[in-house]
Amino acid sequence: MTLMKHRIVVLGAGYAGAFAAGNLARRLSPADTEITVVNAAPDFVERMRLHQVAAGQDIARRKLADVFAGTGVRLRLARVTGLDPERRTVAVTGEDGPGELSYDTLLYALGSSAAHHGVPGVAEYAFDVTGLGSALRLRERLDDLGEGGSVLVVGEGLTGIETATELAESRPGLSVALAARGELGAWLSPRARRHLREAFDRLGVTVHEHTAVAAVEPARVITADGTVLPAGVTVWSAGFAVHPIAAAAGLEVAATGQIVVDRSMRSVSHPDVYAAGDCAYAIGENGRPLPMSCASAGLTNMQATAAIIARLTGDEVPVTGLKYFGNHISLGRRDAIFQMVGEDVRSKPWYLGGRTAARLKSGILKGAEWGIAHPTFGLPTRRRRPAPASDRAAVRVAA
Ligand SMILES: Cc1cc2nc3c(=O)[nH]c(=O)nc-3n(C[C@H](O)[C@H](O)[C@H](O)COP(=O)(O)OP(=O)(O)OC[C@H]3O[C@@H](n4cnc5c(N)ncnc54)[C@H](O)[C@@H]3O)c2cc1C
Repeated sequence: MTLMKHRIVVLGAGYAGAFAAGNLARRLSPADTEITVVNAAPDFVERMRLHQVAAGQDIARRKLADVFAGTGVRLRLARVTGLDPERRTVAVTGEDGPGELSYDTLLYALGSSAAHHGVPGVAEYAFDVTGLGSALRLRERLDDLGEGGSVLVVGEGLTGIETATELAESRPGLSVALAARGELGAWLSPRARRHLREAFDRLGVTVHEHTAVAAVEPARVITADGTVLPAGVTVWSAGFAVHPIAAAAGLEVAATGQIVVDRSMRSVSHPDVYAAGDCAYAIGENGRPLPMSCASAGLTNMQATAAIIARLTGDEVPVTGLKYFGNHISLGRRDAIFQMVGEDVRSKPWYLGGRTAARLKSGILKGAEWGIAHPTFGLPTRRRRPAPASDRAAVRVAA
């Protein structure tokens, strides 16, 4: 009797998908499993540095083909266009046209893009830093803007803060402002908030607080109370939204469109499907949804891969940590804030700021990049475990 290989398809090779594929390849025997990663772009995109790209800095490009070379992971460069969880197939479009991939286990990790919230003019006139293409378009537009041009960053979340400060530091000739619906850094501890405000003052970033943008026009925005703010360039940083593919496929999703998963990152509606990263609606150890972040992508992909491996090999599913510790926000290249949060997601009084925090953040970014570049780091000599011949899903594991 021929034992069919168990087909694992990972959608997306971002922080969650690329790490997960490497981990699966490290732990599962290629004699029994076939791991395919589908990604639209040929390079790994360090999303955490895209505000730097927009500001004009160059970041290292890493080909996914090189990342997965020699790991046994198959790379399929194609855009995922649909999913049929009943037939267990994924529809893709690549250079060779449309195609279909079949899976036994799917790990959905397609990340997110900018959330427009239905605000008129955002799609037509605003720029964003959520993808490499959009960050490069913004960079080009800023190059054309010239001395004294005005840039308005909309959104006081982590990406908005990082983008406004990075642009102000790297392009001092521009007049940078930020529109915040509430108060800048309201969620930070009092000392960290003071640090943030001082950084904005030092870099000359104007803050419009209690300002909800209701419409974006070519060179200005209109706020909810009718105020007009000049914006030669509007950068939309009002949160992330997930791709509608999971919802359209009939998977159970939250109001955000994220896939609702159990503690093991398995879809609650479709047990062959797992989700990790931005597109997983995963509840952290504090009972609240994990925020869309690289840190959460790390936690969720570790749990998802541990669960997939355990279920395929007949082991007990381990419970890995889902604890969100805090936020690390860069304020240009020489300053940053690391704010620890407690169980209730409220900021702890302690924070780390300044050059030390900036160095630490730089180390974290380098560490994440190194991890992607070495997806099967520490690949052990595979310890094979005989799989029961009658069980198609059972595979051998490399410890
Ligand atoms: C400017 C910026 C700064 C950030 N800074 C931080 C930070 O300091 N700390 C932090 O924790 N988080 C940060 N984040 C958030 C963090 O980058 C994301 O939460 C993280 O990338 C999520 O990982 P992921 O694997 O879910 O998605 P991604 O990293 O976005 O990966 C998704 C992958 O799927 C691919 N893909 C998408 N759609 C398709 C499709 N239809 N077909 C095929 N492939 C597709 C993409 O090309 C990509 O490779 C930042 C984000 C931005 C934009």
